[in-house]
Amino acid sequence: MAYEPAGAPDYFDIDELLTEEHKLIRQTMRDFVKREISPYIEQWAQEARFPTEIVKKFGEVGAFGPTIPAEYGGGGLDYISYGIIMQEIERGDSGMRSTASVQGSLVMYPIYKYGSEEQRRKYLPKLASGEWLGCFGLTEPDFGSNPGGMMTNIKDMGDHYLLNGAKMWISNSPECQVAVVWAKNEEGRIKGLIVERGMEGFTTPEIHNKWSLRASTTGELVFDNVKVPKENLLPNADGLKGPLGCLDSARYGISWGAIGAAIDCYESARKYSLERVQFDKPIGAFQLTQKKLAEMLTEITKAQLLAWRLGTLMNEGKASTQQISMAKRNNVDMALHIAREARQIHGGMGITGEYPIMRHMMNLESVITYEGTHDIHLLITGADITGIPAFK
Ligand SMILES: Cc1cc2nc3c(=O)[nH]c(=O)nc-3n(C[C@H](O)[C@H](O)[C@H](O)COP(=O)(O)OP(=O)(O)OC[C@H]3O[C@@H](n4cnc5c(N)ncnc54)[C@H](O)[C@@H]3O)c2cc1C
Repeated sequence: MAYEPAGAPDYFDIDELLTEEHKLIRQTMRDFVKREISPYIEQWAQEARFPTEIVKKFGEVGAFGPTIPAEYGGGGLDYISYGIIMQEIERGDSGMRSTASVQGSLVMYPIYKYGSEEQRRKYLPKLASGEWLGCFGLTEPDFGSNPGGMMTNIKDMGDHYLLNGAKMWISNSPECQVAVVWAKNEEGRIKGLIVERGMEGFTTPEIHNKWSLRASTTGELVFDNVKVPKENLLPNADGLKGPLGCLDSARYGISWGAIGAAIDCYESARKYSLERVQFDKPIGAFQLTQKKLAEMLTEITKAQLLAWRLGTLMNEGKASTQQISMAKRNNVDMALHIAREARQIHGGMGITGEYPIMRHMMNLESVITYEGTHDIHLLITGADITGIPAFK
């Protein structure tokens, strides 16, 4: 029996804060996820298979680069629309949302924000349509939370750069056509480069045996004396603020996406609690089950309001990195907690692939770590409160 998501909880009439366009986008994405993802996701995840065919479909439905201007193939939409798209995809699966987040926020966004006009015109339309898949290479085997220590480097060879080093844990890498790669130049400044599949010395070995984001493909990026043409350097990125600017956009999307996973777990638990009978009553009649459900709905509602407000600040260009950190941290933690509680309500059935719970829970274990770990985001808030960065 395939699990079919029901409607979204909206306990505080948050729909009144949305425009008709937002609601139309949500319905379109919900229909897309029900049609193209939900019927197959359990099998993809069980088989640890990235469905390459989804890339073109994401392009067609407008899931790649919704906030990028339409003249480059993007959706030209606002940040609330972007959040809604991420929420609906992650309601299907966090791995599928990761594919779309990386393409939009971590590949198209830096090319749009830091790229030349030629780079924008060459890459963005192909990435928006899903003809090409991209990835974002920041993390290295020895530098995760501390990306500023990266060892990957470029040397200026006159007519090209020579790129050496390795990146680790890169979403989309085994299937990518292009990679936005962050590397230090000879002065130790972090620069962004567009590396294309087929460049000699560039390989993308896959990372196997993940218990999380199993339908998303993850790998390494290995650069062995790769000759990168000079025109592939992103001219307007300099220093760590280049990659961190992209992460702001992606983390914002995650703060909405996690709500989607939480809603799916909550809806499944609510339905199950009304159907499953023990001691001659539906388990939803027991106070302890009601406590779990009531707390889930409360936390989802708080997360929805936080994400919506952050979206309005993003639209006005006023959202700070620290606010984005707080929302990403809170909402992912909320979703993981709800997945665990929903798992309890489903009893033994909760560990099976009949229900989406365990898959969401395992996925969220990556989401709480990538794009800044749970603890690092807490320390970002701590630094904002005290003026003292405790992570250094
Ligand atoms: C499935 C998946 C997909 C990913 N996709 C991408 C991608 O597309 N591109 C990319 O560049 N990266 C990607 N990442 C990498 C991800 O961003 C890193 O895993 C993350 O930043 C943490 O780095 P790390 O794993 O090296 O952990 P570490 O940095 O080694 O951290 C280990 C633990 O130490 C804690 N810690 C570290 N420093 C401090 C400190 N100063 N104070 C307190 N605690 C600290 C952390 O909070 C964590 O609990 C992905 C990761 C996963 C799992």
